[in-house]
Amino acid sequence: MKVGIVEKPGVLKIAERDVPQLTGARDVLVQVKRVGICGSDIHIFHGKNPFATYPRIWGHEFTGVVADTGAAVQSVKKGDHVVAEPIISCARCYACRQGRPNICETLKVMGVHIDGGCQEFVIVQEEKAHKLPAETPWDEAALVEPFTIGAQACYRGNVQKDDFVLVMGAGTIGLTAAINAKIAGAKVIVSDLVEEKLQYAKQCGADWTINAKTEDLFKKVREITGGMGSNVTIDAVCIKKSFEDAVEITSAAGRVVELSFNELPSEIAPVGIIKKELTICGSRLQTRRFPVVIDYLKAGKLPLSGFVTKVYPLSEMLEAFDFVDKNNASVRKVLISVP
Ligand code: MN
Repeated sequence: MKVGIVEKPGVLKIAERDVPQLTGARDVLVQVKRVGICGSDIHIFHGKNPFATYPRIWGHEFTGVVADTGAAVQSVKKGDHVVAEPIISCARCYACRQGRPNICETLKVMGVHIDGGCQEFVIVQEEKAHKLPAETPWDEAALVEPFTIGAQACYRGNVQKDDFVLVMGAGTIGLTAAINAKIAGAKVIVSDLVEEKLQYAKQCGADWTINAKTEDLFKKVREITGGMGSNVTIDAVCIKKSFEDAVEITSAAGRVVELSFNELPSEIAPVGIIKKELTICGSRLQTRRFPVVIDYLKAGKLPLSGFVTKVYPLSEMLEAFDFVDKNNASVRKVLISVP
């Protein structure tokens, strides 16, 4: 079978591998249909992901058909459509015992620490194969994983109905956060520097958009919120300044959700946190968000029209990566279609 593999930083190619064999009783063999290209995959390709090891079959956003199951598998059967939850955790460490396997001490992410979904067939564990309706188009099924990231940001920020939620950054992750906040009944403000991205955020249901290049972000947010500031601020811009701004603009009793892997320290005065009793939290991958997003998908709540920018066949994987690389500002999601 064919696989898409980053042999070492800068070297991406299609290689030939044996179809994996079922070994565990709870193994599910998935015939992959679509793999999404994420910003983190581009970083792995360029050698800029600190967690990745090589050679690595890339892909953590993938969906497909169950081709075979181990003897003990009950929740899915051959022919079922599934989307994979691409994480493997130990179930023993403190975080796992707290029900938070996404931050497991020995966390392994498929496509990053271990081989991922860009292959014709891949094995996932039963509990990580989430069943989808057969009528869900593959291009939409492939968006479930990215939407769980936005769902997690809202979950971590405890987004409530009628909260003012400011999402900083209208890239793919910012959009999934904004859409999840909207579904939760929040009033959503999205900021970005690129007008086209803001237009699309509006189309996705954002109540207000702010172009932080031409408008004063703080002033606008205060205007919209009657002076109080945003109740939840989700930082999907992920630079030193955006974290500082998020702490500044968030209301008393508010929550700041940080999505950044930035290693640059921000300058934040503790008084700004204590005065408002801010909750500042990180959001990484997701915890039990697959069923939530799949329910949204089934209920037709996700505005997915136009979300997939382009679909490339596996044979044109290099062109697909190049396209994402060169159109960073306008790409939402590029998918690989596996034959
Ligand atoms: Mn991703």
